[in-house]
Amino acid sequence: MKLKIETKSADETMAIAKKFGKSVFLPCVISLIGDLGAGKTTFAKGFALGYGIDVTITSPTFTLLNEYKNNEKNLYHFDLYRLTDLEEAHSLGFEEYFDLTKLDGVVLVEWASNANGILPARHYEVNFIKKSDTERLIEIEPKGLV
Ligand code: ADP
Ligand code: MG
Repeated sequence: MKLKIETKSADETMAIAKKFGKSVFLPCVISLIGDLGAGKTTFAKGFALGYGIDVTITSPTFTLLNEYKNNEKNLYHFDLYRLTDLEEAHSLGFEEYFDLTKLDGVVLVEWASNANGILPARHYEVNFIKKSDTERLIEIEPKGLV
């Protein structure tokens, strides 16, 4: 099933993401897909609040990965925009974060397409479509369920 939501502000996107963060099964991997400025990091910020991370999360654009451990919750936020390929992800040891048998929390990943094949079959896919400066269509779809 694909859930479709339209938001009219960054705050609305945060609010939806916060609700989602309260309701996901753990562990889980969430792929955030959309152009630059579409709202992926905004969604990640709201998600973190709902999931239980008290600090404001920031974009890992230059670091590729930010890790948060808070309230006994683990959040791994990747931004693979600057990554070249799956081989580079492998050399950085990123693949182990995407193993659901080992993951102890949530992985949020922006630009997972730059490490094609890194996602486990079972993950959530969230697509962001920019309708105007302030409007976004957000589609949430669980993948890999039988
Ligand atoms: P990305 O991580 O996809 O590059 P960001 O979340 O960093 O995108 O940036 C989204 C930008 O768009 C922010 O400046 C945010 O304030 C703005 N924005 C405007 N309307 C919305 C909306 N409905 N949802 C999310 N962001 C929005
Ligand atoms: Mg971003």
